Order: sequence, then structure tokens, then C-alpha cells
Amino acid sequence: LSVNDAVHDKQINVCLRKRPLNKKEEAKKEVDVISVPARDTIIMHECKTKVDLTKYLENQNFRFDYAFDEDSSNEVVYKFTAQPLIQTIFDGGMATCFAYGQTGSGKTHTMGGNFTGKNQDCTTGIYALAARDIFKLSQKPKYKKDNFTIRASFFEIYSGKVFDLLNKKKKLRILENGDSEVVVCDLQEREVKSVEDVLYLIQTGNSVRTSGQTTANQHSSRSHAVFQIVLRTHAGGQLHGKFSFIDLAGNERGVDTMSNNRQTRLEGAEINKSLLALKECIRALARRGAHLPFRASKLTQVLRDSFIGHNSRTCMIAMISPGLSCSEHTLNTLRYANRVKEL
Ligand code: ADP
Ligand code: MG
Repeated sequence: LSVNDAVHDKQINVCLRKRPLNKKEEAKKEVDVISVPARDTIIMHECKTKVDLTKYLENQNFRFDYAFDEDSSNEVVYKFTAQPLIQTIFDGGMATCFAYGQTGSGKTHTMGGNFTGKNQDCTTGIYALAARDIFKLSQKPKYKKDNFTIRASFFEIYSGKVFDLLNKKKKLRILENGDSEVVVCDLQEREVKSVEDVLYLIQTGNSVRTSGQTTANQHSSRSHAVFQIVLRTHAGGQLHGKFSFIDLAGNERGVDTMSNNRQTRLEGAEINKSLLALKECIRALARRGAHLPFRASKLTQVLRDSFIGHNSRTCMIAMISPGLSCSEHTLNTLRYANRVKEL
């Protein structure tokens, strides 16, 4: 694999990542229905039954900017998704990287590395890899003279409300000024000087995020986590560039609109709304001048400045689980990612 210039220059980059079957799935003899025959192609094999009850295999092909198979490392995924966008923030632009997919498909693994279990290793996630490169680039002679202040913030959007993960989950207000600029009031922004500083903030924020939950996925499946690294001018503190990393709520939650539980139903509707709005906003980014429906959800509202301007670039990594039992959600993910990419 080599990074070609076409991908480097693309404003929107949509990729697919297949995770391996896990031990539990292997023990249950789960069938792997996804193959990645080329680095931009993914095939979903569906087992269908004819009226005479004979079975046949139907293949659905999807093409993306990149398709990563189960053997691809976070480092490789990073290299073809977020890494080409690092330069953008030094050029005074906005970069955004979304992790999309069903709960358990690998969003947090890709963005954060391994948070769970005994062998925590957050250094392999996209947050840390990007931080590493941002610090590295800031030391290059070309940018060292700018002496940017590098700061980070971390918040989550849950049921249409914004909570600061670096300030005891304080509920934050969103204000829009006359120029449609959106401000997250009182959002904590901490100065970071090293990758270790960044990892410390992520770990702190993450423990605040999931406190009181039986499993990390119980909560994270219903909320969007937004981690941002900003470059500010040393003198005036004005915003120079911003990189946003978004670990999205599980897309399977959208169907919770049928649930018997009112709260679950409302959360599901909110997630549906935000993922639909996100798709439309990314599509509008590519068609300059198109209507930008950023007010349709809190998620798109707080990311408004990432969807406007000449120097905004976005990548989406859509994650899929390989198992047959996940087929329905996998197909939804493939279709959604396909729509984001199509103009
Ligand atoms: P999500 O955030 O989408 O709900 P996670 O990132 O928590 O999913 O992944 C679910 C489980 O699968 C975790 O235990 C994670 O370590 C594992 N996993 C996910 N992607 C991969 C991968 N590419 N390689 C190995 N394990 C993975
Ligand atoms: Mg997760």
C-alpha cells in the first residue's frame, strides 16, 4: 500500500474497516460473510433461499476510497484516513475524522486503541497517532516559528445534550451568534505538550464518560464522543486550525425507535436524526454552496465550522463486524457509507 496523491487531495475520504471475528464468535462458529478482495472493494456474501428451498449465495459489492481487511493495523488505517489531514490544521483549516458503525464493530478500538481489559494500550489509537504527528509537525522549522499553543477538549453528546468530559460531565450550552457561528459555552480546553498529556486527558475523559455503567459499550452505544485538538496562535489565542475526532453512537440504536421504553425510544430517534444530519452535512461539504442542514442535530451543530470553508476536510471510517448475525446492521453501515461518498 502506498498513499496516493488523489487520496491526499480529496476533501471527503470514506473508508471501510472490517474487524476480525472475536473469540466468542469463533466459539459459536459464526460465519464470516465479508471479504476484501481489493484495497478499495468490499463484498458482502448473503445466503438466500429460493422458493424451492435451495440455498444460493448472493454477493453485494461496495467500493470505497479504501477498504481495510481484518489484518490491517490501526497504524495502517490511520495512514490512509486521518494522517493525510494533519497538514490541513497547520494550513489554517478544519479536519474531521468520524468512526461510524454498529456497537462492537471497532469504533473505539480504532479511535482510542485498547481501553478495556488488563492490557490497556491507548498509544495505538488514532487519537494518539494523530497527536504524535501534530507535535512532530509543530516542531518543524516551518511551524516552530509560529509557536502555536496546542490544546485539547473532550465532550460527549448524549440525547441531544452536550457534556464536558474534562469537567465532571458538566452540561454545556450551545450558542449561535449572528453569523451562525456556533459556540460551546465554557468548554474546557487544556493545553497539551506531549502525547502523554493527550493520553492522560483521554483516559480521564473516558473514565468520566462511562462511570456508573456496567460496560463501556452500554453508554457509548448511545452517545457521540468528540475529541478535539486545536492550534491557537501563541499571541492572541485565536483559532488557527482544529482536528475533531468523533466516536459516533452505535448506528443500530437508530432502530430503538420501536422500543417499548420511552427513554430508549427518544434516544434512538435522536441518534437517527443526528446520523442522518451528519450524512447530509458531509454531502453538502462536497457540493460547495449546497444547503448545509447543520441545525438538524446537536452533533452537526457543534461541528458546523468543520462543514464550511474551503479548507475543511473529512474522513469517515465505517466499521463492520464480519459475522452473519450482524448482516443487517452491516448492510446498513455499507449503504450509509456509500451515500456519504456518492455525490
Ligand atoms: P465499538 O466502539 O464500535 O462499540 P469496540 O471498539 O469497543 O467497538 O470493539 C469491540 C471489541 O472488538 C473490543 O474488544 C475490541 O478490542 C475488539 N476489536 C475491534 N476492532 C478490532 C480489530 N480491528 N482487531 C482486533 N480487535 C478488535
Ligand atoms: Mg465504543
